[in-house]
Amino acid sequence: MVDKPSLNPLDRLFKIQELLSEARSKAERRTRVPDHLQHVEAAFQDVVRRRQEAAAKIQKAEARKRVLDGEIAELNEQVQRTQAKRGAVKTNREYGAFLDELDQTQRAIREREDEILRLEEALQSAHAEAAPLEEGFAAEQASYDEQMGEWRAEQARLLEEATAAERAAAELKVGIDKRLLVQFDRIAKMREGLAIARVVMAGPHQAACSACHVRLRPQLLSDLRLSREMVTCESCKRILYFDAATSA
Ligand SMILES: [Zn+2]
Repeated sequence: MVDKPSLNPLDRLFKIQELLSEARSKAERRTRVPDHLQHVEAAFQDVVRRRQEAAAKIQKAEARKRVLDGEIAELNEQVQRTQAKRGAVKTNREYGAFLDELDQTQRAIREREDEILRLEEALQSAHAEAAPLEEGFAAEQASYDEQMGEWRAEQARLLEEATAAERAAAELKVGIDKRLLVQFDRIAKMREGLAIARVVMAGPHQAACSACHVRLRPQLLSDLRLSREMVTCESCKRILYFDAATSA
């Protein structure tokens, strides 16, 4: 790594900005599936989604079936409890109430049994739907992985490079005045990462901010030329960077 401890704070800030911008754009590129792979990605995500939906459907039906089974077991116990009371029935009226109770419970059981039958039919078709998806999935996954292989490697490379650029920026920050860094970060946040802007010459004595293109007052330009003190653009408030090599 080329270390330049001699860089003045503004040179450093400019370099830091370049590194951070590189890190951002590489991190962003890493999240964007290339055009030629988008149909591969979409087709695979579709298979994944259909497989999850089929599994969820089966799970839901099975869970409902378990609830119904439990309810039926309870209702059967209730039938037995009702039947045990039969010996105590004395009047016609009591007998009528006994039959009603029995009938009600048995109807509740039948309703649940009917629902279980419907669930079993639904489960059968859900399994029929899920089976080919399950069978083909390993092959789908393998083909997807193969087609995405190069892109995955590219993503890893982009991540590595973005991390390296961020690390280099952090190293350059060491030793820069805290207040300057705070100001830099604040402007960067407001100005989409562009906190420091080169001064470009529009004529022999005319300079402009390269970010907002507003002309600098001659006094500002001479301030910039004479000292390496920090001057900000009067229009966009960015820190102005006068690089004698490229701005002269
Ligand atoms: Zn400006």
